[in-house]
Amino acid sequence: MTNYLFTGGKLLDAEAGIVKDGLDVLVENGRIAAVGSTLPRSADTTEIALDGRTLMPGLIDCHVHVVAETLDLWANAIAPDSLAAFRAARVMNEMLLRGFTTLRDLGGADYGLVQAVEQGLIVGPRLVICGKGLTMTGGHSDQRKRTDDREPALDTRLGSMGYTVDGVDNVRAAARKMIKEGATFIKVMANGGVSSPNDPIHSIQFSADEIRAMVEEAENAGYYVSAHLYTDKAISRCVELGVRSLEHCNLIEPETAHRAAEKGCIAVPTLVAYEGLALDGKELGLGEAEFAKIEVVRQGGMRSLAIMRDAGLPMAFGSDLLGSLRKYHCMEFELLAKVLTPAEVIRSATLVGAKLCQMEGQLGVIAPGAFADLLVVDGNPLDDLKLLQDDGAHMPAIMARGAFVKDQLGR
Ligand SMILES: [Zn+2]
Repeated sequence: MTNYLFTGGKLLDAEAGIVKDGLDVLVENGRIAAVGSTLPRSADTTEIALDGRTLMPGLIDCHVHVVAETLDLWANAIAPDSLAAFRAARVMNEMLLRGFTTLRDLGGADYGLVQAVEQGLIVGPRLVICGKGLTMTGGHSDQRKRTDDREPALDTRLGSMGYTVDGVDNVRAAARKMIKEGATFIKVMANGGVSSPNDPIHSIQFSADEIRAMVEEAENAGYYVSAHLYTDKAISRCVELGVRSLEHCNLIEPETAHRAAEKGCIAVPTLVAYEGLALDGKELGLGEAEFAKIEVVRQGGMRSLAIMRDAGLPMAFGSDLLGSLRKYHCMEFELLAKVLTPAEVIRSATLVGAKLCQMEGQLGVIAPGAFADLLVVDGNPLDDLKLLQDDGAHMPAIMARGAFVKDQLGR
């Protein structure tokens, strides 16, 4: 593996929210070996002159579904596993070239995809997985139509996002199965959804005992539970039941946000998912009822950002885009920036994400010991967050685990 020395750039410190001059970064064996002003230059190290560009940690998207090739979740689930894997590889590669060097997958991706990246079989971001999202019968990821009374048959397919399970013992077994198969957190559908056929947004899903069982199983393994949540009532219930990662949170109220912050939770707003649906909904054939659902969560989502920030509830960057809507990925930066400062947005996509992936110190920072997941940016994103948009157009170089996946620096 080639070793690299980055010189002559500005180093983005996400924690402090500043860029620093005069620091070089040495990359050895896929990790950052040293950061300093006068690092020794050995003969086997390739120097990368940054010419004043910014070097920042790779971005982390904490809410993706890499197997969601289309918005038709049934079509995804019924695809052959081999086809689903190739499709996921392409999705992952596209995200990597937008600067996302780590993805937390909230339902679908399996250990095979994790391994494929680690073994260099696909050029993609590091994957942190939950296996399938646990859904109760009739819950947010139960894709069966009302008249379909067959047992859920597609839940273990690679293209499926959810796993249907009911009852405390079964839920416990399902959580153990996910962890045994490589999950490092458990995802639960604990509230109704926008894109599902039978459950209104306000529906509360799974019993308290079922969620407690998942939390216990996850915590026994050193992990945590992440829940799909919209309404304040559902969020507040999950916070009290020990759920740590709160997805979406569009309709959260200040009291719940404060309580969640106290309990050490992290929220993952995914505003662009609703923005994308609102923009392309007509084309996608959405009906009036679906548009009405989308508007509730879209407008709530913008309001939720200030509530969570003011409550001191950390937020991790998430996008949750499916199918053709993935083209809007980078718009999440723009939406977050309507309320948060560029430094806050960058922290959400680096440090907070690293914490949620339980990889603090290894991701989201440029420091000795961290993975060499690095972006070279034409300018300072703390001054101009738009530099992180346009699908990587302002990133002449992207490094993942110490190897360039994009390099247009023209040495
Ligand atoms: Zn999702």
